[in-house]
Amino acid sequence: MKVLSVASEVHPLVKTGGLADVTGALPKALKQLGIEMRTLLPGYPGVMARLGKVRAAATYDDLFGAKARLVEADLDGLDLIVLDAPHLFDRAGSPYADATGREWPDNWKRFAALARAGADIAIRGLKAWKPSLVQAHDWQAGLLPAYLRYSGEAVPPSVMTIHNLAFQGRFDAAIFDALGLPAEAMSVEGVEYYGGVGFLKAGLQSADAIVTVSPTYAREIRRPEFGMGLEGLLNGRAHDLHGILNGIDDTLWDPQSDPDLKATFGPRSLAQRQKNRRAIEKRFGLERDDGPLMTIISRLTWQKGMDLVAQTLDRIVSTGVQLAVLGSGDHALEGAFLAAAGRHSGRIGVVTGYDEGLSHLLQGGADAILIPSRFEPCGLTQLYGLRYGCVPVAARTGGLADTIIDANDAALSAATATGILFDPGSADAIVAGCQRAAALYADAKAWASMQKAGMGADLSWRRRAGQYADLFTSLAGKPDQP
Ligand code: ADP
Repeated sequence: MKVLSVASEVHPLVKTGGLADVTGALPKALKQLGIEMRTLLPGYPGVMARLGKVRAAATYDDLFGAKARLVEADLDGLDLIVLDAPHLFDRAGSPYADATGREWPDNWKRFAALARAGADIAIRGLKAWKPSLVQAHDWQAGLLPAYLRYSGEAVPPSVMTIHNLAFQGRFDAAIFDALGLPAEAMSVEGVEYYGGVGFLKAGLQSADAIVTVSPTYAREIRRPEFGMGLEGLLNGRAHDLHGILNGIDDTLWDPQSDPDLKATFGPRSLAQRQKNRRAIEKRFGLERDDGPLMTIISRLTWQKGMDLVAQTLDRIVSTGVQLAVLGSGDHALEGAFLAAAGRHSGRIGVVTGYDEGLSHLLQGGADAILIPSRFEPCGLTQLYGLRYGCVPVAARTGGLADTIIDANDAALSAATATGILFDPGSADAIVAGCQRAAALYADAKAWASMQKAGMGADLSWRRRAGQYADLFTSLAGKPDQP
């Protein structure tokens, strides 16, 4: 089976969050199951620079205002199709915003172009290659299922995957005419969303199936607290809505061979983690201590509960934990974390910015990772934590609830506990979670048992990719034999 995946981020080419990890890893796992997945992504400057030799595959005389082309490349085991459209993507800044963090005003056009290109490949093929199914990721690819549905052509089935319902791609109704969709699409049954145009909404309405990244989040988003205005639509499509957990790329994230660690280790050599902890202490200016070292590796945002942590840092430190924080995002929150590091010198260390290598070292040397999200579609940092013996201390929501076994009495005595769960959205619950972590850490046997249980869990894509393969097959027929 041939599948076209369309996304705005793909690791290792461009990443701002978990979406990139997934789109970078899933094609490799599906290949083992006889599914040939090719990935279409925008030609940002960093992407074009990494590609090296490319093969031109198609051209546009006018794609939303100027010439563009599709080029093919193979990189790190990924089969890529890149939309090289300099007028849309050749600019400094992040994929979505300029260097000051202001979103590009023409984002609607940039990602409508991505979806249009994806639809063209799905309908006409690219050279001899024609997909039998299309997977669209998040709002940036949300128009794709709508372009297919309103094309009037025979089209392959499409799957809309939600990595985070909070980002919806909502735009003014005035953009509709430029999208190239028939007038009938501007309706509640189509792309219209609260008087404007909703890209994610369009995809959810038009795709043959909807996947989100954990079973719990798939249930949560049908309720108003999590549905962000889309709960009605999602309830109406409940039969087509699936929750499939993300896996991790366990070759990139392997504590036995990770080049970013000072010392590699496995479940039988956990003592090696101390060397990584020493390196973290040095980098974050932390004093040497016998208590637990907790890390945070996160976007510093409300979703991640980081405002609650920022308000509570003094109380967290009083539980006896040390904190090493790697994060970027909200400037006020960055300031609050840095100020707390000043007040608690040696107990709290903060590095602002995005540093992939440092995130590996933190997972390999910290004792625990704090993830107090208000909502969390799947979450990847707890999966990396589990694999690295860095015990997750996390809010009981979304994929966190699906992947962490709380250290209650029953789980501890059966040696199946892998972390600590607390109620989301409460500063008191975060402090209580840290207290439980500190108390459990003092029981070295119980702590090591949690680390080993987490490291023994199957977090790989192998099993989970099978669920995608089953869904794709049910929509498009049998995959080829691998
Ligand atoms: P989200 O996609 O909502 O940000 P996830 O937990 O799904 O959250 O994925 C976050 C990904 O980004 C993980 O791979 C995590 O390690 C990485 N990450 C987040 N913040 C940073 C940072 N400041 N530096 C390095 N990696 C980070």
